[in-house]
Amino acid sequence: MASDPILTCPRCKQTDQVQKVTRVYDANTEEWSEEELGMDVFGHIEDRQVQHEAHTKLGLKLKSPEEPTPPRHPGLWYGIGIFIAIIVLSGLCPVIVVPPAIVIPIVLSNSSSLPQVFRGQNGTILTVVIGAAILIGGLIVLGLLVWMGYRIKRRFNRDMANYRDKQEAYERDQLRPYQRAKERWEQLYYCRRDDIVFIPAENKAVPIEDMEKYLHDPYYKF
Ligand SMILES: [Zn+2]
Repeated sequence: MASDPILTCPRCKQTDQVQKVTRVYDANTEEWSEEELGMDVFGHIEDRQVQHEAHTKLGLKLKSPEEPTPPRHPGLWYGIGIFIAIIVLSGLCPVIVVPPAIVIPIVLSNSSSLPQVFRGQNGTILTVVIGAAILIGGLIVLGLLVWMGYRIKRRFNRDMANYRDKQEAYERDQLRPYQRAKERWEQLYYCRRDDIVFIPAENKAVPIEDMEKYLHDPYYKF
């Protein structure tokens, strides 16, 4: 194990009680995982690994800054999936609708069970009427699908724009400050005698309770 460089505490001006915070934290923290029975979103019982963490009082005080949670993505694949499904359906629609529009009326009008009045010339009219009805029905369904696809696409675009804004704000206001604080945390030292932390280059003795504020703001007055 590499030993820490010998550093002088800015308060007591001694070296014997000074230790690197990352090391003190590790020594005061226990991490383990356990198998637990839980319920998934569909109500099925499942085995899952649950992470646990336990700290001594000192470990808890010296805990590194918590990583912020990023904004939730607006179901990218879900949105794209529906969009593609609708496009495919719309494309297939004429192919599916047109043949029955021709075949069904012909079969119907040639059926011998058809009343006499619909045979011959009336039968031809019937064929055209049923064919037209199926075609119009098909066109209405097609139109509805295209309209739905358009609505979903528009909603999806809006959600994505929203998400990009949130993501930008998250990176600027949460993620980067967190990364800076975490980097500073890795440079911290702790003096057990005075219960203070310090960054050697900044040579300021900071009460352990103010560690989090100091990590985010090097000029923080305490
Ligand atoms: Zn000290």
